[in-house]
Amino acid sequence: MLVLAQYGEIGTKGKNRPGFERLLLSNIKETMKGMLKSAKVRDSRIFLEVEGDAGEARSRLMKVFGIEWFAFARECGKGVDEIWEAVAGENLAGKGIAVETKRVDKSFPMKSQELSAEIGARIVKKFGCRVDLGNPDVRISIIIGRNAYVYTEKIKGLGGLPVGSSGRVLCLLSGGIDSPVAAWMMMKRGCSVDFLHVHAFEKWDGEKGKKISAMVGKVAEYGGRPRLYSVPYSDFYAQTGKVRPEYELVVFRRYLYRLAERVALEKGYGGIVSGDSLGQVASQTLENIGAAQSGLEVPVFRPLVAMDKMEIVALAEKTGTYSLSIEPYKDCCSLVAVSNPLTRARKAEVDRIAGEIGLEGIVEKSFRSISEHI
Ligand code: ATP
Ligand code: MG
Repeated sequence: MLVLAQYGEIGTKGKNRPGFERLLLSNIKETMKGMLKSAKVRDSRIFLEVEGDAGEARSRLMKVFGIEWFAFARECGKGVDEIWEAVAGENLAGKGIAVETKRVDKSFPMKSQELSAEIGARIVKKFGCRVDLGNPDVRISIIIGRNAYVYTEKIKGLGGLPVGSSGRVLCLLSGGIDSPVAAWMMMKRGCSVDFLHVHAFEKWDGEKGKKISAMVGKVAEYGGRPRLYSVPYSDFYAQTGKVRPEYELVVFRRYLYRLAERVALEKGYGGIVSGDSLGQVASQTLENIGAAQSGLEVPVFRPLVAMDKMEIVALAEKTGTYSLSIEPYKDCCSLVAVSNPLTRARKAEVDRIAGEIGLEGIVEKSFRSISEHI
């Protein structure tokens, strides 16, 4: 089977374009492993020779960032009769049709419109179709390039940029709905994402933490080879008795950011990703976000900041993480006093508490107890 795929934004990359194209091809190869006979870029289009189940190929290609659309195509010679034969292989009986032609090969003797009209007339004659250029049931596309290519269904891809083209970021992953979606959105912008999860177990437990691993696995279907770093919550928890309860949540957030920063600086991540959505919960007010992230050297990205919960849930369903996110899990957030958290924490007070409990030392201890999973 031949699949034609078209990239979108990569096309605007000027002299960097070949690098983006190479990365996209290599990501496609990875996602299509076992199904790909060949893959190449020609005239800004991607040509894939695919074997195996078409439905499987389709669902895999729909998970590759950087593909704007793709189509299962028939390839034939550039004679009108050959093109007609390829078109006639489609089942078009009784449909409203439109034919469109694109000539990449400008030496082709007919104008695009002439070829479209000729093929359209033959379709009408053979299948009894009506021509409906404005709102066709089937749009028959013909591309004249090195050969001729015919397809009838343009399948929308994810768009975005190839994973890996924008660098690496570290996502703070909770057991909830939002953070895996945040990671996915950064992947859409070309980041490869690894994850840092603070858990409520004494040490990482593959069985208890399998939901977290499964979430990472689900996001991994969209590319990259995400790593999961896990850290026990106990180092922080041991000190929280000293923290005023209404400040506990925001101090915990400060701890999460500092730990992520420590990992980012050590391992070369260009940013920290968090699933915050402004105003969604007490820790996500402007004041609390500001107080929690104050003093960080590494930028924090919050791709969900302006989305509401319904939109985030819809995306989680689309990406496939939702059903995992709602499985029961003992998140350490439930251990942080959340009964009456402040909505307007003062940065100076968070600084003071951080000093009092020796946050730097706690972060260092946690950093040393990180375990790494693929
Ligand atoms: P989520 O649905 O992602 O859990 P939430 O609405 O429950 O988000 P919070 O619990 O305030 O909101 O968490 C906000 C963000 O903080 C999360 O999206 C995630 O990035 C980070 N975070 C929360 N808990 C943890 C944790 N245990 N380990 C790592 N990061 C965490
Ligand atoms: Mg949460």
